[in-house]
Amino acid sequence: MQEIYLDFNATTPIAPSVVEAMTPFFSNHYGNPSSSHALGRGSSEAIEDARCKIGTLVGCDRDEIIFTGCATEANNLALKGVMLSGDKPSGHMVISAIEHAAISEPAKFLQRLGCDLTVVPCDEYGVVRVADVEAALRSDTRLVSIMHANNEIGTIQPIRAITEVCHQRGILVHSDASQSTGKIPVTVDQLDVDMLTIAGHKFYGPKGIGVLFVREGLPLESLLHGAGHESGIRAGTENTAYIVGLGKAAELVIGCLDESMEKMTNLRDRLYDQLSGAIPRLHVHGYGADRLPNTLSVSVPEISGDDLLRRVPEICASTGAACHSGDDIGSATLAAMGISPKVARGTVRLSVGWTTSEEEIDKAANLLIDAWEHLAASV
Ligand code: PLP
Repeated sequence: MQEIYLDFNATTPIAPSVVEAMTPFFSNHYGNPSSSHALGRGSSEAIEDARCKIGTLVGCDRDEIIFTGCATEANNLALKGVMLSGDKPSGHMVISAIEHAAISEPAKFLQRLGCDLTVVPCDEYGVVRVADVEAALRSDTRLVSIMHANNEIGTIQPIRAITEVCHQRGILVHSDASQSTGKIPVTVDQLDVDMLTIAGHKFYGPKGIGVLFVREGLPLESLLHGAGHESGIRAGTENTAYIVGLGKAAELVIGCLDESMEKMTNLRDRLYDQLSGAIPRLHVHGYGADRLPNTLSVSVPEISGDDLLRRVPEICASTGAACHSGDDIGSATLAAMGISPKVARGTVRLSVGWTTSEEEIDKAANLLIDAWEHLAASV
């Protein structure tokens, strides 16, 4: 069976040139980057080179980049690093109702430790309203964390406008850009954020590596205490090979972002046109809002997204976030948008990527339409 991979929001394949860049660091270039001899210096220089490439991608200084074990860790570091700094956990933070669990769970953990939490809603398109964030701010608010692009439906959030109202009050802003980095332009100056999360495996880099951009001078409490790696914020010997891979992936994105955005948009719209032409009352989540060019989250009538995908094993796609597929908890994002459980049940997230071809899109559309017609006829 030849798979058609339409789950690039869950993870991307590692680009061959990324694998190539990483490979020597599993064999000959094994030096500890903290060692002062030649092998150590080689690793350290490779890490600094990757730091520069990521700095170029998101428009920050290389010293503002903290490498982490994944985006989840970067998000934890952002939230806990701010809210746990000082004498004791205290103060208020704001997140949105459509955050990934890698934000909502550390926020709930901090709440258990004594911090206050406000969760702001989103509108029916899956977009957080700036006015709702502004209304949630208090004199003791220390941090606002709103994702840049939603992982399930791809809606892009008005981060710049949110930052403006927060900074007027001296409140820090973090944004989880795990889904947007590599798919659309993401720069820390344009968003004006104080912290930003990046995930390596969402843009053709390896899994198990992430980045937290931390604006220069911002004091953060560490999650991992130990030696002074990563400006003393994240102790532990650096994962040289994965950092090199992430740097290479950043370089690839820098070289092709405009072209890839155009290609993604065409493929996504081609898929949508075919599906909507054949499936009556096909609902597109977030339609009309600014969305990631590669993401199409649709709800088919009458049947469940799970049943639909089970009928087409050739297609690798999800009914929502990959980390939730298979569980009974409905999508918090769709619930926050006011989508009825019946419509939410029919949801399928189809996300395209660099390696997707028009032939695959046409084949996937035909398979999905046939499967839907077959299943809907027997309801
Ligand atoms: N944030 C968002 C928006 C995501 O989509 C994901 C992964 O799906 C994460 C964070 C967590 O990434 P990781 O599992 O690599 O830590």
